[in-house]
Amino acid sequence: MQKEFSELLADVKEQISYLQELGVENLSVELPEFDSSRFQVSNSRFQALNVKPEIPAEKLERFIPTEEILKKTVEAPPKVSNAEQNQTRRSLLEATKLSRLPSLPKRDSIFSNNIEQRGKPEMPKQKAIEEDLSKSLFGDISQTLPESKETVEDIRADIGNCTRCPLHEGRTKIVHTTGNMQADLLFVGEAPGANEDAEGVPFVGRAGQLLNKIVEAIGLKREDVLVGNINRCRPPSNRTPTLAEAHTCRPFLIREIAVIRPKVIVVLGNTACQNLLDTKVGITKLRGNFQDYYGVKVMPTFHPAYLLRDPSKKRETWEDMKKVRDYLNSLK
Ligand code: URA
Repeated sequence: MQKEFSELLADVKEQISYLQELGVENLSVELPEFDSSRFQVSNSRFQALNVKPEIPAEKLERFIPTEEILKKTVEAPPKVSNAEQNQTRRSLLEATKLSRLPSLPKRDSIFSNNIEQRGKPEMPKQKAIEEDLSKSLFGDISQTLPESKETVEDIRADIGNCTRCPLHEGRTKIVHTTGNMQADLLFVGEAPGANEDAEGVPFVGRAGQLLNKIVEAIGLKREDVLVGNINRCRPPSNRTPTLAEAHTCRPFLIREIAVIRPKVIVVLGNTACQNLLDTKVGITKLRGNFQDYYGVKVMPTFHPAYLLRDPSKKRETWEDMKKVRDYLNSLK
């Protein structure tokens, strides 16, 4: 009996929150005096025990209304004045405590709030950017990176004092790709942090120190390799760059890749990996296996900042870097 009552209570609570979600803030309920003799109990347990519950222990649907009840419910209800109705409503609300429950915003305002918060939906700009690139720079880039006729300096000049995306508003310095411009190995991160923003050089903070150790672990020095980011301006409070911001900045990196033509690109972390490879597949799935980026081998691995937070993941990164080292050695 207690279990059934708890179930009924849970159902009522669920109904109330559902109604609130729909924007119903007040309920006017007419509760008839319960007279168990007017119901036939469908539950044979009650019949076998020959007891009639004083309070309906079952949900109302489980009771079968008698013919008498069915007739009564179609009779016109007695006329009640508005004042009386309001008074009844107030006391019912008080009695059911419905008025004390926090009311949710109406459904349509929930949606409009979300749209405001999310801003306008981001359009998939990647195709347009790559179509533009392929027309203006590369011709057909569907298979491999075509020969580029520009230089890294041309690309820097094109970037200029960039204001193409909102990230320029908070930056101190644009952080360009730096290192050996003839390198076989390019590391790509997400976006500059505070130290990088102040110095204008990628990966110089704590994550950068760890990156240097990773480079040295495969027998190279930082000066031997190239290091850059998808985004060249620091996002406010180091937040993740939006897709639109990443898509605005990424073409410059692609153009550099076409000029420098590294043998291997190591993408550091989920955001850089997803933005470079244009995939929604996560880093945990992709890491450790070479991917193809227009004919260039790409090794996704964990971001050094993540390794600082979870040093147990260094082992996997080491496994990934050994594959990179072995591949580069195989080309000699
Ligand atoms: N994290 C990045 O992704 N890039 C940097 O340059 C520094 C930290």
